[in-house]
Amino acid sequence: MRFSKIIVRKCYIICGNHIFLVTLHTRVYFDDYFVFMTTDEKYMTMALHEARLAYEQGEIPVGCVIVADNTIIGRGHNLTQMLHDVTAHAEMQAITAATETLGGKYLQGCTLYVTVEPCIMCAGAIGWAQISRLVYGAPDPKRGYATFAPQALHPKCTVTSGVLADECRQLMQEFFADRRK
Ligand code: ZN
Repeated sequence: MRFSKIIVRKCYIICGNHIFLVTLHTRVYFDDYFVFMTTDEKYMTMALHEARLAYEQGEIPVGCVIVADNTIIGRGHNLTQMLHDVTAHAEMQAITAATETLGGKYLQGCTLYVTVEPCIMCAGAIGWAQISRLVYGAPDPKRGYATFAPQALHPKCTVTSGVLADECRQLMQEFFADRRK
């Protein structure tokens, strides 16, 4: 599957004494787009794609992908409304998908990318699965594990935070602003 997005640019064309404002729509394929990104940004963009799928379904927009050897082996987005299940967070969906792909319950050597800092429950699941690296976008000071259960991850797990944090946070803010309308 090849992902793409439309990038809209506004520019001015000066012709004699007239100035025209034109809008250009360019379809950019993620393969091309990724060239300008770090590896973490590339996979966080994929997690953001998952988060947008959640948004479109009226779910709180959190998305997750799990990567092993530069391949996505599991992906998921928040499905708590649809499944009537408070445990159906993006990370839980992605961990289940990844273990099905690998055929084992541990995800050593894998990196989990999630758009928002995991909650205590998901951090526990990330720990149980022995995921080696966690990368998240926006921090969640109210519900995030780092404040309440910083030891929940596997002791060898390394953490990178703040990757594409503005985009991740903006999506959440848009969702809640939409809901208040
Ligand atoms: Zn969670």
